[in-house]
Amino acid sequence: MEFKGRVSIVTGASQGIGEAIALELARAGSEIVLVDIQKDKLEEVAKKIEDKNGKASIFCADVTRMDQSIKVIESVVEDQKNIDHLVNNAGITKDNLLMRMKEEEWDAVLDVNLKGVFNFSKAVIRNMIGNRYGRIVNLSSVVGLMGNPGQCNYSASKAGVIGFTKSLSREVAARGITVNAVAPGFIATPMTESLPEAVKKMFVDIIPMKRFGVVEEIAHAVKFLLSDEAAYITGQVINVNGGMF
Ligand code: NAP
Repeated sequence: MEFKGRVSIVTGASQGIGEAIALELARAGSEIVLVDIQKDKLEEVAKKIEDKNGKASIFCADVTRMDQSIKVIESVVEDQKNIDHLVNNAGITKDNLLMRMKEEEWDAVLDVNLKGVFNFSKAVIRNMIGNRYGRIVNLSSVVGLMGNPGQCNYSASKAGVIGFTKSLSREVAARGITVNAVAPGFIATPMTESLPEAVKKMFVDIIPMKRFGVVEEIAHAVKFLLSDEAAYITGQVINVNGGMF
């Protein structure tokens, strides 16, 4: 898979899965637009890409803000670049049993995980329609499909991402744009690092492969969906979860 001349936007690219996706796409030759709220970490990821002769630019932006999402896209387009790929990866958790879940915990998770996908997709879609080409990949989750106690907010947001993906794919399929989702299982990243050891062990026990996934395993699935080899795949969810669901 060769992405030379392509421009890929990755949100939540400072660490974890987003960083791995950015590095993988850069290796394939794409110019990467890194978006996150953590500037220092973004600079580190950009340096890793440039050290390997790749091209990267960084934008400190909050995906929950439509104005900031539009500003990122306008800056890229003003720089005479078409946007070929959008990876909506930024995500957060704020776990709690529903009985204890605060309204703010619900709102914060839905805002980043679902509204963030809406904001960046809306900001980019006109450019992609104009080019009659585009690939959007949204990060969902296994818990958006199977549910998980303590994650009503997170699983609702990730199920919402799947509905969004399927609807948008139908709106833009005739314009040469595909929209798909990747639903990771449990992947070793800063997001899962904080889980108590007993919870991690419980999850490993129910994963047929008996291990957490690694970030590169998600990056490979995303890269495939962005590639020309996946041109006839749209509105789909690829599960990358070690057989868990
Ligand atoms: P992560 O390590 O926590 O990385 C997420 C990144 O998104 C962080 O750099 C975070 O910055 C950034 N971010 C958070 N809020 C943002 C906002 N409002 N605007 C811009 N950037 C923002 O998470 P991950 O494990 O790599 O997960 C990446 C994606 O995969 C998420 O959508 C997640 O839900 C999904 N996923 C992960 C797993 C897993 O097991 N790890 C499983 C299924 C799905 P801060 O750190 O400063 O908040």
